[in-house]
Amino acid sequence: MARYRFETDEHVLFRETLRKFLAKEAIPHYDEWEKNKLIPISFWKKLGEMGFLCPQVDEAYGGLGLDFSYGVIIGEEMERVGAGLTGVGLHNDIVVPYIESFGNVEQKKRWLPDCMTGDIITGVAMTEPGTGSDLANIKTTAIKDGDYYVVNGQKTFITNGVNGNLFLVVVKTDPNAEPKHRGISLLMVEEGTLGFTKGRQLNKVGMHSQDTAELYFEECRVPAANLIGVEGKGFSYLMEKLQQERLVVALAAQTASEDMLAMTLDYVKSREAFGKPIGSFQHTQFKLAEIATKVELGKTFLESLIEDHLAGEDVVTKVSMAKYWITDTAREISADCMQLHGGYGYMEEYKIARRYRDIPVASIYAGTNEIMKMIIAKNMGLG
Ligand SMILES: Cc1cc2nc3c(=O)[nH]c(=O)nc-3n(C[C@H](O)[C@H](O)[C@H](O)COP(=O)(O)OP(=O)(O)OC[C@H]3O[C@@H](n4cnc5c(N)ncnc54)[C@H](O)[C@@H]3O)c2cc1C
Repeated sequence: MARYRFETDEHVLFRETLRKFLAKEAIPHYDEWEKNKLIPISFWKKLGEMGFLCPQVDEAYGGLGLDFSYGVIIGEEMERVGAGLTGVGLHNDIVVPYIESFGNVEQKKRWLPDCMTGDIITGVAMTEPGTGSDLANIKTTAIKDGDYYVVNGQKTFITNGVNGNLFLVVVKTDPNAEPKHRGISLLMVEEGTLGFTKGRQLNKVGMHSQDTAELYFEECRVPAANLIGVEGKGFSYLMEKLQQERLVVALAAQTASEDMLAMTLDYVKSREAFGKPIGSFQHTQFKLAEIATKVELGKTFLESLIEDHLAGEDVVTKVSMAKYWITDTAREISADCMQLHGGYGYMEEYKIARRYRDIPVASIYAGTNEIMKMIIAKNMGLG
């Protein structure tokens, strides 16, 4: 059955096929991946074989030429399995689109086919130990030297940092530019480039199977041919593409909320206290009625936002609203649902425990929710 108004029979079939694939290839292995703190590359390759990696890529480069509505389905179905699969959405809908939108033909021919098979796994490296929210203040430099850029600096918290082998690195090509954001450019750095090393895999509160790592650049010589778009335009490219990134994060949080509601509803119907199901207590009923209302509001808002985004409309303010509200709401829902599970909610055997650990980061990454509120306020003519 179609979930959104924009879904056609093809979307429904696509979702069913993906769901079946994940039931066989992901769900039975997910606990092990969480324990190992890594998703095997073989899984990425299987996704590629099935056409679930970057299906939006233009047919001219061997892609399926599908639009972001299919990315929505992939994002939702991955999140239904667990937040550890976030890296797939990051690759498909966040990093590869930079190559598609701003890369030249040679770059597209070089990288896109392997992005679809899983031979290339991408990441985006903006954040540094000294700066996250204040992106214009990054310190990593890339100074032109003949046909190369010499990159020096450090990045941290990089999703797909272990499995990834091609990174979109945000660098300062003009460290003295004023205003600072005019000095920012985007460089693709391939694994194996001399002077580029990966640091340790970071130990996170949640999303354990999602690999997050540090990246180091020391006198790293990157071919100038790896520059994405025009030098000095990196910040404006980021501002454009961050909208879809935030939509992807809101979508995942919404899916997590729906999952938490469903599992808690099941639980309160079967768990008994004082001789009756805990779902018969008015407090439980009111809580679940509130959660169901929030879930419905989130879904309705997201649906209209996805439609606007697909239509190419400016969604900056609304995307910031959705990212902030849906992720904060999911965090509240995770605490309420854990409470309704009683002591079992705190046990790893119950999926709510994992959801509770996994969700808070959605309020932090892709621009913190405080930054989202700053954008909303600015677009209201404040500040
Ligand atoms: C699991 C995980 C995965 C990540 N993946 C990636 C990735 O793939 N690539 C990447 O580049 N980054 C990634 N990040 C980094 C993430 O985007 C940053 O952590 C985030 O942008 C916040 O930056 P920061 O950590 O430096 O916090 P800070 O910028 O130091 O912020 C700290 C606090 O101050 C608040 N704050 C900052 N400025 C203001 C202001 N002007 N007004 C009010 N409050 C403010 C923030 O909202 C926050 O609450 C990831 C982070 C995590 C945890």
